[in-house]
Amino acid sequence: MTHNLSARLFDEVDKAFELQVDFLSELTSHASVRGQEQSAQNLMADQLDKRGYEIDRWQIDLADIQHLPGFSPVLGPYEEAINVVGAHRSKTRKGRSLILNGHIDVVPTGPLDMWDSPPFEPRIADGWLYGRGAGDMKAGLASNLFALDALNACGYAPAADVFYQSVVEEECTGNGALACLARGYTADAALIPEPFSEHLVSAQLGVIWFQVRLKGLPAHVAYAGSGSNAIEAAFPLIEALHKMEHRWNAAQNRPSDYVHMEHALNLNVGRFEGGDWTSSVPAWSVFDVRMAIFPGQSIDDAKAEIEQVILAAAQENAFLRNSLPEVIYHGFHAEGYALSQDSSTHAATAIATLENAHQLATGEPLVREAITATTDARFFGLYADTPALVYGPRAEAIHGFNERVELESMRKITKSTALFIAEWCGVEKV
Ligand SMILES: [Zn+2]
Repeated sequence: MTHNLSARLFDEVDKAFELQVDFLSELTSHASVRGQEQSAQNLMADQLDKRGYEIDRWQIDLADIQHLPGFSPVLGPYEEAINVVGAHRSKTRKGRSLILNGHIDVVPTGPLDMWDSPPFEPRIADGWLYGRGAGDMKAGLASNLFALDALNACGYAPAADVFYQSVVEEECTGNGALACLARGYTADAALIPEPFSEHLVSAQLGVIWFQVRLKGLPAHVAYAGSGSNAIEAAFPLIEALHKMEHRWNAAQNRPSDYVHMEHALNLNVGRFEGGDWTSSVPAWSVFDVRMAIFPGQSIDDAKAEIEQVILAAAQENAFLRNSLPEVIYHGFHAEGYALSQDSSTHAATAIATLENAHQLATGEPLVREAITATTDARFFGLYADTPALVYGPRAEAIHGFNERVELESMRKITKSTALFIAEWCGVEKV
């Protein structure tokens, strides 16, 4: 069946590809940064509804998820946090079920003058579509949707339940994917087309977000004593955190997927605020930090060490010694996850099925890669016993300026995804 069906599926992907690019362009024009995902989610729900999927759309309720493993603490309200799921219910249910997951949220643009063209006015040049979120990961949402369309155009539907998920909160907590699990959406495998260059992600890191708050007594600069400046007091703390980062990356701490990476774990001070007036000694400062951990590394141990490093460095400072810094957790509380360590039959079969689909769609063998970021895959893999395959198109400058996705790569991913769905779920007549 494979060769005959694969040719037909690939043909249908080609036929609808212009529509797919238009859809990606429209989706990218929605500025779905945190708290503003609603219009993009409306578009997703409309598109799924039009195709006859059963629509589930709900606001994430912290009460449903905050007791669950993998929950990340959040600051601020959740009124705008809306998930959308489109369900295909199989008539025969003779195959294996599947979750097709993607996130609708995008990271902030940064200074607009760093972009060659406005980030939410997508444009195509030299085979790339430019725009914030085009690669990460609206091209993946498009490939999941149009892969299912290709199967439908061949007169088939998956012979098992398929849940198409468009989730929020991937870029800061993962609570959108967690809310899907809490709502009962489980399957035999999950596919997440994050933009990792058509590679299969074999392992991903965990991520912790924390905020350090320093405060003291303000004074006029004329009377400032050394060490009482809440901005300057932060510098030695950041230096101590970088020494910890260096220790965690040491060769003896690396699990097998990361043995050859000198510096997989990155500590990033991503925001810094402090002070009120140029001639006043700053009484306060706040900085936000992102730190990675390896798969298998305990998140509680990591947090304890972070706090201990900050407090020890604070003891060295006359000002901080009497006014100890406060550490707040306000986002990612994510463990690492390694698909490579999943020894289940489902994992082996899903990987083999994807290898075959990728080979037929691209003519190349599937490359496996351990990545230095996190994705929502951890929820399925760690907390739902579901192998999660992260596999998506080639993109550049994600989280940077002039983010772009290669359209021919999206076409290849859509073809292999369509074939993967057909082989993994099996097919039934529409
Ligand atoms: Zn992403």
